[in-house]
Amino acid sequence: MHRTVATGDSAAEVAMVDDIKPSIEGRAPGGRETSGESLHSSASVQLARAVEAAGISNDIYEILARPERELVVSIPVVMEDGHVKVFTGYRVQHCSARGPCKGGIRYHPDATLEETRALAALMTWKCAVVNIPYGGAKGAVRCDPGTLSQEEIKRLTRRYTAMIIPILGPKTDIPAPDINTNGQTMAWIMDTYSMFMGYTVPDVVTGKPVDLGGSLGRREATGRGVAIIVMQLLSRLGYLASEVTIAVQGFGKVGGAVASILDNEGYKVVAVSDVSGGIYNPQGLDIKDVSRYVYSPEGIRLLKDYEGKGVEHITNEELLTMDVDVLIPAAIEGQITSKNADSVKARMIVEGANGPTTSEADSILRDKGIVVVPDILANAGGVVVSYFEWVQNLQSYFWDLGEVNQNLARIMTKAFDEVWHMSQERNVDLRTAAYILAVKRVASAIEQRGIFPY
Ligand code: GLU
Repeated sequence: MHRTVATGDSAAEVAMVDDIKPSIEGRAPGGRETSGESLHSSASVQLARAVEAAGISNDIYEILARPERELVVSIPVVMEDGHVKVFTGYRVQHCSARGPCKGGIRYHPDATLEETRALAALMTWKCAVVNIPYGGAKGAVRCDPGTLSQEEIKRLTRRYTAMIIPILGPKTDIPAPDINTNGQTMAWIMDTYSMFMGYTVPDVVTGKPVDLGGSLGRREATGRGVAIIVMQLLSRLGYLASEVTIAVQGFGKVGGAVASILDNEGYKVVAVSDVSGGIYNPQGLDIKDVSRYVYSPEGIRLLKDYEGKGVEHITNEELLTMDVDVLIPAAIEGQITSKNADSVKARMIVEGANGPTTSEADSILRDKGIVVVPDILANAGGVVVSYFEWVQNLQSYFWDLGEVNQNLARIMTKAFDEVWHMSQERNVDLRTAAYILAVKRVASAIEQRGIFPY
């Protein structure tokens, strides 16, 4: 098959690259295609571009363009009212060339097999960029957790786990939290898996509660990793902390943590948002007060109801196009698209979410001279501390928080330096540089192992 690589991002070029992607049966309909360009097609464009730039052979490309294994399950759940509802779940393993497959499980009404497939591949590149010994995977259940009771979520989680057990395991595929899942979800997965094995297997998931063998620092690790990358970038570009303004889309596990850490480090966070909208204060928000409000003892409260001195209410769209130094999209994919990329005024974008920028938007941002630190580098802190958790579980020996954070900073800083140098050396943007580094590492593992049975 002839490989065509898109050099620009017109719809036609994207479609051309999409044409060469393998056709895989069982594709679920729909998906979140905010700009007409799905995460899957953006990811295909990026892979094709990196493969070309890295000089990877077509044979290896053929392997990397497909997931190794996909499992689709129908999950019957007895609901609170006694009737049965059947949910669809996925687990996709993209590549195990560098080690066990690793990646989160999300619960979302828009989840599809195609999206899960793209997210699994992102995990392969993410683990390779930060050079941890994992391949990539992703899982999802198509459901709206907001409409389910805790008991229903527990039953759904346990049944989904039971149905994907044939491909899970601490040496094969290790899930973690993602959108709408958390430590409690991981505890149920770990317990269900352990019941089937007949003994406790803490290392089958990461992001567990600390009492069950979770790592200190894992909960805020993705946000901490994003903050480390923001600080590396700003110091590389010669900015002073006191001069910088920052806007964060999302105030959840990632956005909330990154806003708090950067605020503690003396940066001015002027805007944050959640699903209900955003808040803005040009003098800088009181992030501690915002956190206390949102994460109240009575439960999570929405930013639309937050009131503070000098605080204006804005929409998520306004936040994305705000005149700030650093924009951190830390919510969900497909936020910066061909529709709004032209209006983005930030000097730098650091991607806290997976796939927040479509590849069409990426080209527009590049032409505008906006520096984008890609998701596979910027938000890798979560999986890095997941790796630490797994290592601690394997050794049954636990680290203190200082050791976790110090090692996280070391790995993130090294990866940032490597990506930065690759971008300088090849004269390419940071996303292409990160992909070149990742794809080369994965390709090298495949080549050195050989293609079984050869
Ligand atoms: N869900 C997170 C991610 O997308 C963490 C994955 C993990 O720790 O395995 O990076």
